[in-house]
Amino acid sequence: MKNLLILGAGTAGTMVANKLRSRLPRSEWKITIVDQDNVHHYQPGYLFIPFGVYKPSEIVKPRARFIPKGVELKLGVIDRVVPEENKVLLEGGVELPYDQLVIATGTTPRPDQTPGLLGPEWRHSIHEFYTYEGTQALAGTLKDWPGGRLVIHITEMPIKCPVAPLEFAFLADDFFKKKGIRDKVEIVYATPLDGAFTRPIAAKTLGGMLEGRGIKLEPDFSIERVDPEAKTIVSYDEREVPFDLLVTIPLNMGADYIARSGLGDDLNYVPVDKHTLQALAWPNIFALGDASDIPASKAGSTAHFAVDVFTENFARHARGEPMEKQFDGHANCFVESGDGRALLLDFNYDTEPLPGTFPFAHLGPLGLLREKRLNHWGKLMFRWVYWNMLLRGRRIPIRTEMSMTGKVRKTAEPSTAAVTSDR
Ligand SMILES: Cc1cc2nc3c(=O)[nH]c(=O)nc-3n(C[C@H](O)[C@H](O)[C@H](O)COP(=O)(O)OP(=O)(O)OC[C@H]3O[C@@H](n4cnc5c(N)ncnc54)[C@H](O)[C@@H]3O)c2cc1C
Repeated sequence: MKNLLILGAGTAGTMVANKLRSRLPRSEWKITIVDQDNVHHYQPGYLFIPFGVYKPSEIVKPRARFIPKGVELKLGVIDRVVPEENKVLLEGGVELPYDQLVIATGTTPRPDQTPGLLGPEWRHSIHEFYTYEGTQALAGTLKDWPGGRLVIHITEMPIKCPVAPLEFAFLADDFFKKKGIRDKVEIVYATPLDGAFTRPIAAKTLGGMLEGRGIKLEPDFSIERVDPEAKTIVSYDEREVPFDLLVTIPLNMGADYIARSGLGDDLNYVPVDKHTLQALAWPNIFALGDASDIPASKAGSTAHFAVDVFTENFARHARGEPMEKQFDGHANCFVESGDGRALLLDFNYDTEPLPGTFPFAHLGPLGLLREKRLNHWGKLMFRWVYWNMLLRGRRIPIRTEMSMTGKVRKTAEPSTAAVTSDR
């Protein structure tokens, strides 16, 4: 009997467990999945809680419900991987042997990495919405906030769902308009990037949308520290941005056990082959979802397409044969823009988000890189798709590889060679 061990029962780990259990013979493969708790969070829902769209209870469910029969769910905190001995140690001394290992422990916001962030203003005038606790605390503050200077801030790239801070800015603009206090709120968007987004065409569109809503862009802002008393964020080039309310995206990092195991880069992401997700250092280790260092968006959609490729390849790999399928970095992201509309971005390693229609040429019905009501309904419907289809490993009608169908590239626009990565 061979052991497939999956670390992390979040989006990627749960999909892998479901897809591989139905493919691998039970007489040959034991599958075990490890997580530190038994609560699965629908993280895209964190964005909506501060604006009262979702209740917290609507975005959490027991993990065990999504783990298929024939896969053992083990609850415990991973302490380290010992790749030389093909085993994983959990806190408390439990040892789990493996023949093949999947690392899917994601990425986590780390406010402890920026001086001053976790000071006396944390969860008072300084907030984040990348955790369950954080988004609920922010909802409490926004409910009675009288107005002032709201600074939305990204510490450093890469972050999971790189469009989420922009969505927060657009939804905040809409929220304050509907409350009738938009004239009392100044919104600033401070980012380490040189524009609103990583890719040039999308950056132009999204930057124009910030401008159109009177949201000031503060580009190239590389934060050194927060001064909680003066209520300013301070950059390495000594720019100071004052705030009354700071909504920050803290530095995102892979799990600390990855560093302890000698498996990560300086942000604890596992270096992998970007087409097969196989660890560069160990042929029987793969990293899926946000845990790897691939130059693609850290997003549930990217995890989904990468898991499809991985599961196609796995049987051949386990037999010692070369892997045939190649992951192209496909990401597919809805961007909420407020007032019941959203944009859709569809891109990969080589092709930046382009305007057009999706999934069909001319017919759509979804619109690429433009605001549409249908895109917004697509985003809200996605929660149902996530719980009922995606996590359970069921097929959804979107191609794994990015398609150029419906995409419009103007000849004057940059070629694929000019595309920058999301990292
Ligand atoms: C605010 C927000 C909005 C988002 N919006 C979107 C969106 O609209 N579309 C989209 O595609 N994506 C979105 N995402 C991103 C998406 O949620 C993640 O990319 C996706 O969940 C990544 O899956 P994963 O399996 O890699 O990691 P996760 O789903 O985070 O799972 C990692 C698992 O590992 C476990 N773990 C970690 N360390 C340990 C340890 N030491 N021991 C035991 N267990 C451990 C955790 O408990 C967790 O269950 C959003 C994320 C956020 C925060």
